[in-house]
Amino acid sequence: HGSPESRNAAHMGRDKQVCRPCQEHGITQFLRMWDRAKDRHGDELLWGDEIEYMVISFDDKKKNAKLSLRQSEVLAKLSKSMSDLKADTSDSMLMPTFHVEYARYMVESSPGSPYTGSIQDLLSVESNMHYRRLLVRKHLHVNEVPVTLTAFPRLGVSGIFTDPYFNPDKHSLFLPEEIISQHARYHAFADNIGNRKGVKVSVNLPLFIDEKTPRPFVDPTIPWERSLYPEGADEAFCAEKAQNGRRIPHYAEARNSAALNDHIYMDAVCFGWGCCCLQLTLQSCNVEEARRVYDAFIPMAPIMLALTAASPIWRGYLSDVDCRWSVLSNCADDRTEEERGRVPLKNNRYVIPKSRCDSVSLYISADWSNKPTYNDIDAPYNQEFYNRLVNHGIDGLLSRHIAHLFIRDPLAIYSEALYQDDDETSNGHFENLQSTNWQTVRFKPPPPRSPMGWRVEFRSMEVQLTDFENAAFVVFNVLLSRAILAFNLNFYIPISKVDENMSRAQKRDAVRQGKFFFRKNVLPPGYISPTMTTPSSSGSCSPVEEQYGIPQKEKRMRNGFSRVPPPSLFVDTPVEDEYEEMSMEEIFNGKGATFPGLLSLVEAYLDTLDIDPPERLRISKYTDFVRRRANGSLLTAASWMRQFVRSHPSYKFDSVVSQEINYDLMVAIDEIERGVLRIPEFLPQDYARSRVNGLNESKYEP
Ligand code: ADP
Ligand code: MG
Ligand code: MG
Ligand code: MG
Ligand code: MG
Ligand code: MG
Repeated sequence: HGSPESRNAAHMGRDKQVCRPCQEHGITQFLRMWDRAKDRHGDELLWGDEIEYMVISFDDKKKNAKLSLRQSEVLAKLSKSMSDLKADTSDSMLMPTFHVEYARYMVESSPGSPYTGSIQDLLSVESNMHYRRLLVRKHLHVNEVPVTLTAFPRLGVSGIFTDPYFNPDKHSLFLPEEIISQHARYHAFADNIGNRKGVKVSVNLPLFIDEKTPRPFVDPTIPWERSLYPEGADEAFCAEKAQNGRRIPHYAEARNSAALNDHIYMDAVCFGWGCCCLQLTLQSCNVEEARRVYDAFIPMAPIMLALTAASPIWRGYLSDVDCRWSVLSNCADDRTEEERGRVPLKNNRYVIPKSRCDSVSLYISADWSNKPTYNDIDAPYNQEFYNRLVNHGIDGLLSRHIAHLFIRDPLAIYSEALYQDDDETSNGHFENLQSTNWQTVRFKPPPPRSPMGWRVEFRSMEVQLTDFENAAFVVFNVLLSRAILAFNLNFYIPISKVDENMSRAQKRDAVRQGKFFFRKNVLPPGYISPTMTTPSSSGSCSPVEEQYGIPQKEKRMRNGFSRVPPPSLFVDTPVEDEYEEMSMEEIFNGKGATFPGLLSLVEAYLDTLDIDPPERLRISKYTDFVRRRANGSLLTAASWMRQFVRSHPSYKFDSVVSQEINYDLMVAIDEIERGVLRIPEFLPQDYARSRVNGLNESKYEP
């Protein structure tokens, strides 16, 4: 993440002649990583979170909350302050990392070094997040605040929503190009998505129809008048694109057909990529463990998306969805008409069912529990790359996963890299494809020249308004991953059902009203309930005798699956009988005789650890919170925001979230995070106190 690269370099090389060698090098680089790391074994649990912030700039006189576009300045200050700190301390946790993100109002942060499996580390997550937030805050202007908000409610509303103000320009009816980070890569992404698909981004999100919303709703804020956009500008834009031999979307198209009635129309990549999220990366002891954790997280992705729902307002309107994912997926979708299957294949090679940002299409574990029938959706892959991988000795499942990622063209290529990258020591081309396949879960191989092992990244969660919530979901997921390993849990359901869950997860109030496909019996054969037996958590990274012995309580969370039941124990039931529809409450708290619920599994795992009672109490604040979210006794941020808007004195019950409502909402969000404003139906009584206690006990000073 250095200085902004030259724009030309990033623009180059989306021609076929350059895409192909880039992909070939990418495969070679994966094979090199494979050779180096396939037998790598015994890596400890290391893990870390990523949190994205939006910087809000308050104008208290005009009652306007805007997006502050000072990303470069803020990041420069943070980086200077971190290098100054380096002179005084060797504690890397005090020097978190801050990263650039797509929009110029965004900043990303991660802990200064990954956490270990110690309980202390688990319990320092919230204070570390709080510390990072304060560091960002410290480098802002007095009227600015970092908020962990998934989607900015008034992004793209006519009027002033950025600081400083810029006019929308040729690339969008609603957004100025200046809203995109100054880093060339991001501009190239946005341009190339539009160029490749041949039409402008067009998202139509269902509007939440309120009592006084006009019907049919024809959005009066879409500039229908062509004169708003001088002919000249359009033509220059078209001519520029025509030079590259690509079909040009015309504004007439957007105006006349793209925007649907009763929907919120959005026409730029930034509506999706300008969203903030919460991510988690975990290291596994070896490649097979990473593949199993990856697979177990796949069905969890929609479940956690629904539970963290936090984005109910788009372009100034209440929407009928609670989550960002469909917008993100649509915005990153660069498939051509051929690839969408709308016209016969001629210039492209594949009909591709999904956007490059979408839920995972293939389970990859080589374990017997991964039945071939679970991979039941069309996931095209590049046959030549697949053959190369298989001929190299990689099994079909993993080869297919990689060859599936590599059906995409690179989104941007740096011309220097293409000719200078050394496949032995670089993974640049592999990463170029890997990191532009934005799936709900990512399988990360050990990069060259790095101490990191095989990792899995969990990417579906929406960022939460408070560090308490963000910590709770991160802690819960880490513990769940440990329960998966310790009890050898089986979460498999057909991928088509995971996809169905993805769309259900985003519906309004899915947590309380939705039903989700989930596996009825997640315990391996021989287990009645995890509380009735105490499996070893020392796992497959230790000798077999130990795995079946009576375990000592563990001091720390470890990698490694415990026992792997032999396939002979496995009673084969038809796949359709393995899962059923459950409410969120049932998924987390249990259903029937065989399914104890995710929280009981986490509790059973905690019982295998040697945890001091006060620490266990602190962990239970997080698990209790997750329980209350799941059973609906605490609102999601999305539901709370809807309530806030609908009970605002100036709301007209017409779906419109005005500048004033948005201002009051942003003020409230900041006050909630600081513990100044208490909303008992949204957060537990002691959420802010537990944070302060955590701080007192920890090294992080506010
Ligand atoms: P990306 O944006 O590609 O996902 P980042 O560098 O932003 O990557 O975030 C990576 C996350 O992985 C951070 O939370 C970091 O703390 C964590 N991390 C770093 N090293 C390891 C490791 N060896 N194992 C697991 N997680 C790690
Ligand atoms: Mg990151
Ligand atoms: Mg990154
Ligand atoms: Mg990010
Ligand atoms: Mg402009
Ligand atoms: Mg990430």
